[in-house]
Amino acid sequence: AIILVTGASGFIASHVIRAFLQKGYNVRGTVRSEKSAAGVRKTHSQYAEKLSLVVVPDMTVLTAFDEAVQGVDGVVHLASPFIMNATDFENELFVPAIQGTNAILTSIQKHSPNVTRVVITSSFGAVVDPTKGDRPGYTYTEADWNPITTTSTFPHNAVTAYLASKTCAEQAAWDFVESQKPSFSITTLCPPLVYGPVIHAVETPAGLNTSSADIYRLINGSEKTVPPMAFWAFVDVRDAAHAHLRAFETPEAAGQRYLVSGSSYTYQQICDIIRAKFPALRDSTPEGAPGEPIPSAYKLDTRKVVNELGMKFRPLEETVTDTVMSLLTLK
Ligand code: NDP
Repeated sequence: AIILVTGASGFIASHVIRAFLQKGYNVRGTVRSEKSAAGVRKTHSQYAEKLSLVVVPDMTVLTAFDEAVQGVDGVVHLASPFIMNATDFENELFVPAIQGTNAILTSIQKHSPNVTRVVITSSFGAVVDPTKGDRPGYTYTEADWNPITTTSTFPHNAVTAYLASKTCAEQAAWDFVESQKPSFSITTLCPPLVYGPVIHAVETPAGLNTSSADIYRLINGSEKTVPPMAFWAFVDVRDAAHAHLRAFETPEAAGQRYLVSGSSYTYQQICDIIRAKFPALRDSTPEGAPGEPIPSAYKLDTRKVVNELGMKFRPLEETVTDTVMSLLTLK
């Protein structure tokens, strides 16, 4: 079977592609340029004969994926801007996130009769209510939706605009299913911060994806104190990738939305792990208050993904250790 993975050059997509290749699937990836295609080929060089790449320069065009989807049996849609420093929210975030989602679903419906399941990488950002802050005592479930959309009168900043782009992109997917009644089913996955080993092509630390850069800043001396929390849950990228495979292969995941998370964490815990495991990084990793208990904040109910997709999640220590080991090769 051939699985189409959009945004193949990305941090999570690299692990998703690896998971499908290891399971014996053929993978076709979409990238924006020949240069990224070369990077993706390098990442998966041991599977050269099972991986092909298609250049889709602009997914905001409704027919963008018409060629890429032909002959595939399943699709995982990951391409979406994940930047927390946009200034033109409409063009940098909202349009590509929402139009990209509509474009992939439209092309599949028109040209890919064999596709039964489309897995869409949404985000905890489409679940969390950013107006409620740390929300101690509250437990988020799949029934929650971020109420702040791209068209809210809410005064967006770069973070809330990113969250809104994911919220409306996921909503666009559910709206597509409801209005178009396609022959395929969709499954949406909502991971919080995704950390783990970087296996995609990254030339310099400045080119790291947003969530890997979130750890890199804790080892490169740029943070003098332990930073405040932004979100209170994480998932290992290898577990997130496995969840994509399970979402594709599990018939009962049709039409389902899943929170995909290991557990809660704090930057203090991450710094404690780094300082214990990598003594050479002690001078460039903030010390803060080692061992400080986790402050009370919202939790994520992840029973659905555990029970229905059979997921198990790596503990923070393993994730942080493997992330830092891979980041050190960039230094
Ligand atoms: P990356 O930045 O590494 O990957 C993003 C991918 O999307 C890249 O392949 C990128 O292509 C592509 N992309 C970005 N903007 C566009 C655009 N305008 N048109 C076409 N392609 C585009 O980030 P992640 O791997 O972390 O993100 C992958 C997905 O996971 C995204 O949908 C993100 O929202 C979601 N996600 C990520 C989380 C995390 O913590 N990492 C948490 C929750 C969800 P190119 O290489 O050409 O820039």
